[in-house]
Amino acid sequence: MGVTIDERRPIGPDTPVAAPLAVPSPPSRWGSSARPRGAGWALVVLLAAWLANLGAGKPAALRARLPGGLTAVLSGQHELWVEALPEHGEGFLAFCRRLAGSTSDAKAILAANGSPRRLLKGVRYRVPYPYLKPELQVSVLRAMLGDDTPEVEGWRHRAHRLGAVGMPSLAEIALWLTGKVENEAEIRRANGRGSGELAAGESVLVPAELLLPALRASLPIARPEPPAPPAPAADGSSGSAALPAGSQPAGSLPVMGPGSTIPAVEVAPPLEVSTPNDGSFRLEYAQDAAGSYAVYRLRPGEALYSSVVIRFTGRILAADVNGLAEEIAARSAIRDVTDIPIGYPVKIPFDLLQPEYLPASDPRRQEYESALQASSRFDNPVKALGLSGVTVILDSGHGGRDVGATFDGVWESLYVHDIMLRVRALLEAKTLAKVLMTTQDGSRSTPVDRDVLPYSRGHRVLTTPPYAIEEAVIGTNLRWYLANSLFRREVGRGVDPKRTVFLSIHADSLHPSLRGAMVYIPDAGMRKGTFGRSGAVYAARSEFRERPQVSFSFNSRVESEGLSRDLARHLISAFRGQDLPVHP
Ligand SMILES: [Zn+2]
Repeated sequence: MGVTIDERRPIGPDTPVAAPLAVPSPPSRWGSSARPRGAGWALVVLLAAWLANLGAGKPAALRARLPGGLTAVLSGQHELWVEALPEHGEGFLAFCRRLAGSTSDAKAILAANGSPRRLLKGVRYRVPYPYLKPELQVSVLRAMLGDDTPEVEGWRHRAHRLGAVGMPSLAEIALWLTGKVENEAEIRRANGRGSGELAAGESVLVPAELLLPALRASLPIARPEPPAPPAPAADGSSGSAALPAGSQPAGSLPVMGPGSTIPAVEVAPPLEVSTPNDGSFRLEYAQDAAGSYAVYRLRPGEALYSSVVIRFTGRILAADVNGLAEEIAARSAIRDVTDIPIGYPVKIPFDLLQPEYLPASDPRRQEYESALQASSRFDNPVKALGLSGVTVILDSGHGGRDVGATFDGVWESLYVHDIMLRVRALLEAKTLAKVLMTTQDGSRSTPVDRDVLPYSRGHRVLTTPPYAIEEAVIGTNLRWYLANSLFRREVGRGVDPKRTVFLSIHADSLHPSLRGAMVYIPDAGMRKGTFGRSGAVYAARSEFRERPQVSFSFNSRVESEGLSRDLARHLISAFRGQDLPVHP
């Protein structure tokens, strides 16, 4: 329960034994002075337990973000297009020029959008793939076909399922890569293939001469015979192969665009490669005198901060991210972090990697996997039509004098309280769920219909008696006592513990590159077995006196973690399904 990440230090136990409500216990100390001042606001939901079947189901289309605020979409019917919001003051012809490169296909693009009379602000319009300007077509293919690799002789397409939309046919690949569906026959001939479709994992080479000009231009150029492999180092280590300037190891992403080259950088030959089925990243593992490291090659539109440091190390505070970015830049011989060529091999030392990005054989990865496996035994089988019989406890993460993260005069407390009221209003209007809240601002219980919210320090925790929030730590502890008391009361009334959910809503201010929804769940291994406070301010409240101290077995904490992760997955997939930003 706490705001910014500095509050998310190891937390105590939170659930009654064998009950899935896991309210993360409050921080022992409030790090307000350490609160980051960056401008990266991110909606954060701290949660526990399972809300019956909240997930929105699988989206019927595959969506991928492209640089410049664009979204590539592959529909369930395997139609490909790019969606974009009109820029300020941008008319339809300017929109066409920006995405299609010219206005020559304006009529067709207009028709693809239902022939609107004018573009509306805040509405997304699409440009079908055939009309996109060449460099955008390349971006779309790279985003959608992440396992494909440009080679000297052509484009290697590897067949795999694209999420819910399935596997593209060879005819579709011919259309996307060459612009002509008829080229399918030529591709089959060049690869000695009969009439069957590709099986997952199979690949075909689309010859360079068939490719769309922009794709052909993105192929690596043939280079002279590589120098003889370096002799193994005297100490028996694998040694490192220096690459000639401007070249790159086979299978790596090519340098995009004329003039940009990858400078000479020493990368040892990979010992192992990790690529998940969804093609979301590709890491090579190698070793040199300074130790083991993973190599990640930047893709178009990616930056060191968000695409490497935040993603692979899990750090999100501005100071941490900047510090690690410097360390990684130095290890990778990057001089200017704002100007790294696409495909540049960025080296990330093993000790900085999140465990899930380590090689499968690494002990830290194995420990992580077994903890994940232990908690994943717990998922919530409850299905509740219209959330009937479900109780949702909503906690706005701050309030009163505890304003949470602040930036430019904006207080986190005001907006997370507003979000809580809106979530409650929606749940009550559209579902049968019962909603309970931990705080209230004055007598108000409905959201204010304004973009900029009026300042208020009037929030109080709804304990008995209420607590006008004077001190952040006490407010947080009391919200925690209250949430667990509400949970016990609901269970006492006969509510199934598995039909109770707790969400604490936050809006963090972290590294400026961070955007999108994140969910924090209680980690079984990071929580202590017992937790409790003492003091007059607590003793005066009945929720505290009900159970001043709680303790939980390790198994119940593992269950809490599993149920919470289950809910988190549904929440994030619902965000994705609605095309809302999600922190990768
Ligand atoms: Zn917060």
